[in-house]
Amino acid sequence: MQATTTEMFEAMNAVMPITSRPALAFVRGRGSWLWDHEDRVYLDFVQGWAVNALGHCPALIARALNDQANTLINCSPAYHNLQAVLYARELAKASGMDHVFLANSGAEANEGAIKLARRWGARHRDGAYEIITFEDAFHGRTLATMSASGKREFAALFEPKVPGFRKARLNDLASVEALINSRTAAVMLEPIQGEAGVVAASDAFLRDLRALTTRHGVLLMVDEIQTGMGCTGRLFACEHAGVRPDVMTLGKGLGGGVPLAALLATREASCFEPGDQGGTFNGNPLMAAVGLAVLEHINDAAFLANVRAQSVYLRARLERLSAQHGLGPVRGRGLLLALELNRDCGAELVTAAREHGLLINAPRPHLLRFMPSLTVSRAEIDDAMTRLEAALGEVTGSI
Ligand SMILES: *Cc1c(COP(=O)(O)O)cnc(C)c1O
Repeated sequence: MQATTTEMFEAMNAVMPITSRPALAFVRGRGSWLWDHEDRVYLDFVQGWAVNALGHCPALIARALNDQANTLINCSPAYHNLQAVLYARELAKASGMDHVFLANSGAEANEGAIKLARRWGARHRDGAYEIITFEDAFHGRTLATMSASGKREFAALFEPKVPGFRKARLNDLASVEALINSRTAAVMLEPIQGEAGVVAASDAFLRDLRALTTRHGVLLMVDEIQTGMGCTGRLFACEHAGVRPDVMTLGKGLGGGVPLAALLATREASCFEPGDQGGTFNGNPLMAAVGLAVLEHINDAAFLANVRAQSVYLRARLERLSAQHGLGPVRGRGLLLALELNRDCGAELVTAAREHGLLINAPRPHLLRFMPSLTVSRAEIDDAMTRLEAALGEVTGSI
């Protein structure tokens, strides 16, 4: 549908105001590039919030959507459909999990994981229902996943919260062990806390957590919604630590841009009974077909090696920029990287960078996060650095 710019700005009044957004609307995208309503072009290092693993509008996804839309879009979750069963098999094989429940958002997948832990506690641990999560964690925006999150901004919101979540400190095993009791059903964490500012659980901590949860007979649930699907340079971030969780959740890059998420569990942890879990759109063949195409493409040694190579390059460029401008360290893994600024100018930098045609994100006031497409090129990384440097000059020059 075509609209004049005036009409478009008027139409924005119909959008429920849930966050402040710049006065523009995006119209189309291709690879690492996005075009707005005035046909201005932006280099996109946000990519739908680490969602467009293969960039904007990859032919592979357009083809999968088109083929499947002409074959079967939905047939009710009361029946199996071919795409969903093939996809579940491939996802289980790739992750080392046994069972897959397809969902429509990360929060929904985590909500399912929380229910699964409670079901498991009821069945195997005498009614245990508590889940140990972590300070600064982010697990979604439903009531239960907000309660599971450790984001300080969430603490006072929508009281009363869902009970049963206790917060430990990341990379502090003793803080976890101190919270384990007979009511504990599971420990749940992100291998890298993305929204907290790309703060990683160390490989040693993940391994210790695996041993601890096994010793106490509670589930280890890993939220790989942001870290999964190749963005750390392996298909799943917990592979770096050699850890196999009992429950894993996936989202964001899973569908390469379409709404698709998943809850995965080992046979031992998978204990839903008929009626416990479901959903109208869950496992629809349209999204499953896309997921299958994206998984086949990303779960490839050469693809993942390229993510690692581009990561080395982006990290080196960011480190050089940091040295030149007196900024802080670079952290993260693969193409999920953050740059510490050593001052609270993240929001100004995001705005200035956008004016220079670069989209980036500041999850914290003192920090920039980079989430380019996993197919980003060196030339695009160079281009992003030039734009960021111009923005930095403006912002830090004015402080
Ligand atoms: C984005 C995210 C979620 C929530 O996913 P939605 O699709 O936005 O509901 C949960 N956990 C982590 C780690 C995330 O990054």
